Amino acid sequence: MSVNIAIDGPAGAGKSTIAKLVAKKKGYIYVDTGAMYRAMALYLHRQGVDPAGAESDDAAKAEEVKVKIVELCTKPDISIKYENGEQIVLLDGENVNGLIRSEEVSRMASVSSAVPEVRVRLVQLQQKLASESDVVMDGRDIGTVVLPNADVKVYLTASVEERARRRFKEQQEKGVECDLETIKKDIAERDHRDMTRKTSPLKQAEDATLVDSSDMTIEQVAEHILSLCK
Ligand code: C5P
Repeated sequence: MSVNIAIDGPAGAGKSTIAKLVAKKKGYIYVDTGAMYRAMALYLHRQGVDPAGAESDDAAKAEEVKVKIVELCTKPDISIKYENGEQIVLLDGENVNGLIRSEEVSRMASVSSAVPEVRVRLVQLQQKLASESDVVMDGRDIGTVVLPNADVKVYLTASVEERARRRFKEQQEKGVECDLETIKKDIAERDHRDMTRKTSPLKQAEDATLVDSSDMTIEQVAEHILSLCK
């Protein structure tokens, strides 16, 4: 039986950094499920789907966008492969790693991941990966839906202010112009969408350990999680 470690939490809590570190230390595979939702979002974006429409006050317009997402989401082939330990997401065979971190794709992923038909396809792929290999998998619903029997479950969070500060610093270091208040608003909106959607909302699994990283270093968080894996 493979060993499965589930790390869930809101955007910007440091899940991917920590999950990668833990996976490296344990010699497990790191599975970034958000990247799969992002690849689907890139496909929808390329097909001209308007994410703002899905949240429009005009119910007919919102329904039209959702129907389009349901119809389109079965079409692309999304898979992953590993090169030198790095997860590569393939959208119809194309490596899209460099194209899925934009603001547009983040917004589309946050909206389209609320559509149950989108989740069904990607959850199947995630469960297959976890049954075949020892994995550290991060996302929003890993401990609650994807791997309810995971060996270790962590709910990693941090305050909105701290998560926004980290994202701001990251963007500045990359030379991307940005505004702290806008980032904070965007994170709060994504939290709200992820936590209030009907299908697989972001929430702490009953048997997950809560880790608040607001005042912890990356190493401290990783050590703490590794101590749960013994
Ligand atoms: O983690 P990341 O920010 O890359 O995820 C992108 C989007 O995909 C999130 O905003 C979230 O709505 C969605 N997601 C999800 N379930 C997961 C992973 C990500 O709904 N397991």
